[in-house]
Amino acid sequence: MIRHYCGIFGIYNHAEAARLSYFGLYALQHRGQESAGIVTWDGQKLREHRGMGLVPEVFNERHLGKELKGDIAIGHIRYSTTGASLIRNAQPFIVRYKGLEIAIAHNGNLVNTLELRRELEEQGSIFQTSIDSEVFVHLIARNLNGHTLEEAVMAACRKVKGAYALLILANNKLIAVRDPHGFRPLALGRVAGAHVFASETCAFDLLEAEFIRSLDPGEMVVIEDTKVQSYKIETEAPTRQCIFELIYFARPDSLVFGEDVYQCRKRMGQELARESAPDVDFVMPFPDSGVYSAVGFAQESGLPYEHAMIRNHYVGRTFIQPSQDMRDFSVRVKINPVKSMIKGKRICIVDDSIVRGTTIRTRVKKLRELGAREVHFRVSCPPIKFPCFYGIDFASKGELIAANHSVSEIERFIGIDSLHYITIEGLLRSVSHPENYCLACFTGDYPIPCAGGGKLCLECGC
Ligand code: 5GP
Ligand code: MG
Repeated sequence: MIRHYCGIFGIYNHAEAARLSYFGLYALQHRGQESAGIVTWDGQKLREHRGMGLVPEVFNERHLGKELKGDIAIGHIRYSTTGASLIRNAQPFIVRYKGLEIAIAHNGNLVNTLELRRELEEQGSIFQTSIDSEVFVHLIARNLNGHTLEEAVMAACRKVKGAYALLILANNKLIAVRDPHGFRPLALGRVAGAHVFASETCAFDLLEAEFIRSLDPGEMVVIEDTKVQSYKIETEAPTRQCIFELIYFARPDSLVFGEDVYQCRKRMGQELARESAPDVDFVMPFPDSGVYSAVGFAQESGLPYEHAMIRNHYVGRTFIQPSQDMRDFSVRVKINPVKSMIKGKRICIVDDSIVRGTTIRTRVKKLRELGAREVHFRVSCPPIKFPCFYGIDFASKGELIAANHSVSEIERFIGIDSLHYITIEGLLRSVSHPENYCLACFTGDYPIPCAGGGKLCLECGC
């Protein structure tokens, strides 16, 4: 299965639509570093440019100033880990059907792709990529017969199961959709008479756009000329937003799901300190992701706060490296201790999450070598025991350290004096609407029956 993170951005009615999309994607770069793409509507046809790499590597002045003409645009950045990293899998994705060109940018992961794909192929659809977003476009195209684009998108949304935040561009229409559970975020804003959409509000800040609101789960917003219309694609589904967006994935200067991400992370650290603060000389984060909960942890516990682990800012996120060897190495490249701070000290490390255990294993070993007297570890995310089918790359159950080992086992073989993960209750006390979140990676309670559409799945045992 291909799992990917992504970021999406869209803009309607701006003379520099491509350039603003470029900056929007730049601000969302943390959501995907493998490929980037922008598609514009020039009034006659779609124009497109996609490439592998970071946003500034993919686009140059020629693309932004000349080729990507038009005042409507959508953009996408993709971060694929287990899937093939191919240029033809880069988005936005375009299909041409009966004289209509449709471009789509998708963030999330569908769970019934295989079934749908088989069904569509039997009816004659030919697929160009291995991404599930392509299934979406084919479904839309199939439903266009005698229907408006809005109706076709709604019909496609009712067929697919899974997580999606979508931007669709067709002629002079821009459509934005959030799936009925609302797994992935999507926000609406305005700048200089234009409407903008982005996965996170940090993209609006860069453009000095005003944040209007988040789309509701199951909402479709259609913009055409000066008209903005909102539709409900489904009403019954319970809201199940991805709590990992708040724990790790989103930028702390964003508002996501109506939450201020920075404040949320700080509260997680405070809760964590209330649950278990050891007697140590100081608290330190594993930067950057651990910083915000570590600040909350230090403030709540009253322990001194230090930055004894230094981050190299010129390396990307470690999961980019596919092999385990390379992963160990990239943790070393990424964070390195300040030697004089470690020797003889009793230290409490705070990090946002433990996934495979690579970071904690390699860095704690180093701290021991440098003579740390005690090393305690506090994590502002409960143990991740189950894979995610909705767009976060938590690999398979076999690779998740907490799926296969108890807290005391991890404590023992990593060689730490104590390990404490925030409780689910503590985590939920840090958010404003605890009932609205998906906790499947901690509990195995999947809001949508996983992969095989409810059939026995070896991964999660549903
Ligand atoms: P581990 O080293 O245990 O496999 O991963 C945990 C570390 O990676 C934490 O420092 C956390 O901030 C970061 N992390 C957690 N989830 C992800 C993810 O999905 N992708 C990337 N690149 N890093 C992650
Ligand atoms: Mg980290």
